[in-house]
Amino acid sequence: MKVISVKTSTEYNVYIGSGLAGRVGEMLAETTSPCTAFVISDENVFRLYGERVLASLANAGFRTGTFVFEPGEQSKNIETYGKIVEKMAREKLTRSDVVIALGGGVTGDISGFAAATFLRGIKYVQVPTTLLAAVDSSVGGKTAIDLNAGKNLLGAFWQPAAVFCDTDTFSTLPEAEYLNGCAEIIKYGMLGSEELFESVAALPVSLHYDAVVAKCVDMKREIVENDEFDRGGRMVLNLGHTVGHAIENKSGYMVPHGMAVAAGMCVITRAAENLAFAEKGTAERLLRVIREYGLPDGTSAPAGFPEEELAGFSAESLFEAAMNDKKASGSKLTLAVPKRVGECALLTIEKSEFIDWLRAGGLK
Ligand code: ADP
Ligand code: ZN
Repeated sequence: MKVISVKTSTEYNVYIGSGLAGRVGEMLAETTSPCTAFVISDENVFRLYGERVLASLANAGFRTGTFVFEPGEQSKNIETYGKIVEKMAREKLTRSDVVIALGGGVTGDISGFAAATFLRGIKYVQVPTTLLAAVDSSVGGKTAIDLNAGKNLLGAFWQPAAVFCDTDTFSTLPEAEYLNGCAEIIKYGMLGSEELFESVAALPVSLHYDAVVAKCVDMKREIVENDEFDRGGRMVLNLGHTVGHAIENKSGYMVPHGMAVAAGMCVITRAAENLAFAEKGTAERLLRVIREYGLPDGTSAPAGFPEEELAGFSAESLFEAAMNDKKASGSKLTLAVPKRVGECALLTIEKSEFIDWLRAGGLK
């Protein structure tokens, strides 16, 4: 088991290893007196891992409560949030109790937001069961739900009290979910660790989960410790995301996040090289790994998507989507831009220049 200590406004440990879902109770009991542990999960994850976590909590002396919702991003809304906090109130949770978010990013985000706001903030623990949540959303304390006007528009910074990442749970992930995580992991390599990049180029992520997840979490730890409230430095984590979000948006959220980020990363890296920000050969190295994983490179449709849909991902249409992004206000745009494999920089441009980047990145 690997342990990474995150020193933000509150300090907490991220535990990464095999079998942790069955040890949540025992490990939580080391720092938390007997209380109510309120487990929030989606139907898929609860069916697979709910029993294991509940039994471990009960064995360690916790009283348990549960809330299980329909899987998917469409549940990450005010309605589900309302049902969660109403049930927490009916179960008489107090500030001495704890919420357990068992699942992927959707579960982590909505449970974290419920914990951040219920009684003005109660403790919560993340038990990420997707590779994406393990390397990204479960660490760093960003919690949110979606509004009709856009994703993640209602949220709070609220750090978890602990993160228990059981890498065994990744064995049941659907292929697309596995690839979502791989795309973000390749991103971590690109933005800050050539060694990680090479290690996942040489060996599929699934063959060394513990080492790969620990490396990503440690990188995220450092970034979050330096910019807990997302005022600047955390933006490097957006590598590939400005273009990626535009692709997701234009596809009506049919293209999965990881595929969109992979494509976005390829576009921005090609552009960086063509505009002489990145060393020659950087894009070629990235493309080789992206293709090895069967991820899209931004110039052809993602696997399973008809080629003609590519028309929807032209420079022009992605530019329009990026301009309409609710979170990008003002006349400027900050991009995370690779300089070489393992290093990237933040670059602020006029929004109108973004179209040149998309074209330089190979989009028609
Ligand atoms: P994210 O990709 O942001 O982590 P979700 O929380 O929506 O997103 O999870 C993605 C999908 O994967 C959901 O349908 C969820 O039920 C399912 N899922 C999560 N963890 C596992 C797992 N370990 N095994 C099988 N399915 C899982
Ligand atoms: Zn992402």
